[in-house]
Amino acid sequence: MSLKIYVGGKLCDKEDAKVSVYDHGLLYGDGVFEGIRSYRGKVFRMTEHLDRLWNSAKAICLEIPISRQEMAKAIEDTLAVNGIKDGYIRVVVTRGVGTLGLDPNRCSNPTVIVIADKIALYPDELYQKGLSLVTVSVARMPSAALSPRIKSLNYLNNILAKIEGNQAGCIEALMLNHKGEIAECTGDNIFLVRQGRLLTPPIDAGILEGVTRDTVIGLAKQLGIDVAELPLTKHDVYIADECFLTGTAAELVPVVRVDCRTIGDGVPGPVTRKLTAAYRELTQKS
Ligand code: PMP
Repeated sequence: MSLKIYVGGKLCDKEDAKVSVYDHGLLYGDGVFEGIRSYRGKVFRMTEHLDRLWNSAKAICLEIPISRQEMAKAIEDTLAVNGIKDGYIRVVVTRGVGTLGLDPNRCSNPTVIVIADKIALYPDELYQKGLSLVTVSVARMPSAALSPRIKSLNYLNNILAKIEGNQAGCIEALMLNHKGEIAECTGDNIFLVRQGRLLTPPIDAGILEGVTRDTVIGLAKQLGIDVAELPLTKHDVYIADECFLTGTAAELVPVVRVDCRTIGDGVPGPVTRKLTAAYRELTQKS
């Protein structure tokens, strides 16, 4: 049976789920999106994802044409009609159909799309053994140019970093900000552990406010782990006892090598494992 996709208020077959070539989402990457998980048929952190979507839209003066309740229902209906319990949901709101010019005022209605599909996690081996990262030369976009807090359809900054990472044989890449501080990876936030303390770059390092990042900070506090959001450098990464990434799709992924240097003992560390277990427990019970 074909997957059903929600486009502009209707559920249609995957083959028929299309947008116009004049949609500014396609022409200019003008739009916003979210990546959300469902576990056991329940949407995880729905409120937080909708908050971020609405904030991203507001930041680019895009009015989402449906209410938050309608969006939540569209997400739940799309999961249900496809019989997906443990899945990944992509919500996209484009500027809509316009002219060939940039002007968003000449676009008619924003298009809302909801895709629910099966999740393709990193291979299990990576969770056991850990991931290798490389720091790339592509800097994270400065907030003064385009705030990384906006989860926009314009992901070329991250894609260029991903290409560079791939060329160096890594599936995820570490991006610095324009000051040379640690920002985040192309699709994940980064955490370090040093002397039992959890460290992560602050939002004003120019990063996406990851929903998983927030959840992990909350879990760490509950577990009595000291957490600090502070500017970090490559030096901090190299001397860290542990390193891991967080993201909706990836959850928590241990990192054991950065720029060909071994992090800590070169295996997923105890704090990473403890937080991974706590995160998995939370996804299964909420
Ligand atoms: N940073 C970037 C650039 C991302 O695209 C993502 C994935 N949405 C993340 C971090 C992780 O955010 P979240 O935990 O909300 O998925």
